[in-house]
Amino acid sequence: MKILVVNAGSSSLKYQLIDMTSEKMIAKGNCERIGESGSLLEHSGGDDIFAPMPTHTEAVKVVLDTLLDKKIGVIKSLKEICAVGHRVVHSGETFTESVKITPKVIDQIAENNDMAPLHNPANILGIKACLAVMPKTPMVAVFDTAFHSTMPQKAYMYALPYEVYTQHKVRKYGFHGTSHMFVASEAAKLMGREDLKLVICHLGNGASISAVNAGKCIDTTMGLTPLQGLMMGTRSGDVDPAVVEYLGNKLNMNVSEVTNYLNKKSGMLGISGLNDFRDVCDAMDKGDERAKLAIDMFCYRVIKYIGAYAAAMNGIDCIAFTAGIGENTYRVRDFVLSGLSFLGVDFDREKNYKVRRVVAELTKPNSKVKAFIIPTNEELVIARETNRLVK
Ligand code: AMP
Repeated sequence: MKILVVNAGSSSLKYQLIDMTSEKMIAKGNCERIGESGSLLEHSGGDDIFAPMPTHTEAVKVVLDTLLDKKIGVIKSLKEICAVGHRVVHSGETFTESVKITPKVIDQIAENNDMAPLHNPANILGIKACLAVMPKTPMVAVFDTAFHSTMPQKAYMYALPYEVYTQHKVRKYGFHGTSHMFVASEAAKLMGREDLKLVICHLGNGASISAVNAGKCIDTTMGLTPLQGLMMGTRSGDVDPAVVEYLGNKLNMNVSEVTNYLNKKSGMLGISGLNDFRDVCDAMDKGDERAKLAIDMFCYRVIKYIGAYAAAMNGIDCIAFTAGIGENTYRVRDFVLSGLSFLGVDFDREKNYKVRRVVAELTKPNSKVKAFIIPTNEELVIARETNRLVK
């Protein structure tokens, strides 16, 4: 039983083939430059395959041919792929969990395009391309927002005129839901209990924190879009909304240009000139003051949100670190956990320094609040959800 997981962007299509008996990834890759010249497939374990991909449909054909290839392929017949799971970024309020794809569902996803203009239309291209090539194979949409649909209204509302919510659906939705969902279930297993008060720090190029009480998300840092909350690689995270008009006037930019500035030129990049966290760490080690400031700001916000969510849940049992920075960067975890001693966090500094990209407990046995690294696996969540719905 194998499931193909597809994550389509406007000019790219990432995929993983997952064997559901072992839950192991058996092939993965990425089609790039779809609709452009020089389109290619980077299939892990093989050379790049250059092939014309004027649309996502040709890209899906190249992927399937590669999976079937006698030398580098992993399947003998397309029948081995029993379903396709698609990552879809924004469900709006239409879906609160994963859904089997039908023509009506595709239309409903498209109704939320406004809220994720860079993502949802591309996700739909991926769905339609797979349907064109594999019309009989069941497909499932798994949403980035769905895990956060359990947030209570007091957490997801913005204090704007109520009609803005009823008429235009302006509210907090939250993202990285598949990652938060995976880590929440792994944390419950590690702690051996379901009734956990858990704070999950998904710290990657995009970064978000969620507060999860007894398996249900009660708050998260990202909002209507992924711009809100933590400082990120190139996104500002929280700023005073009045910054938009002020900057527009000062820099002679319209609202879209300022929004682009907040999304693409800010965050770690804006403060330090560097976007990749490894580069920022290297620069700090060489004495770069701006790089140090960027890391201080990043960690300060993580600490602040963990404290806020501990208060929101009236307690905290466990903190989990995941994604590129959370799994790899001992100094962020060190900074953050050191700042949380007031909550009763007592961590093993030596161990934290040594471990990366593996499940690991970071706190000492007597620590009141436990902390773990839990490597995320968003594709596996999409495959599990797909399996659950098509079974
Ligand atoms: P993600 O978005 O989860 O892929 O995470 C990407 C971020 O993780 C980038 O900022 C990387 O610099 C950072 N990252 C990945 N590996 C490491 C590492 N070994 N040390 C520090 N940062 C890392």
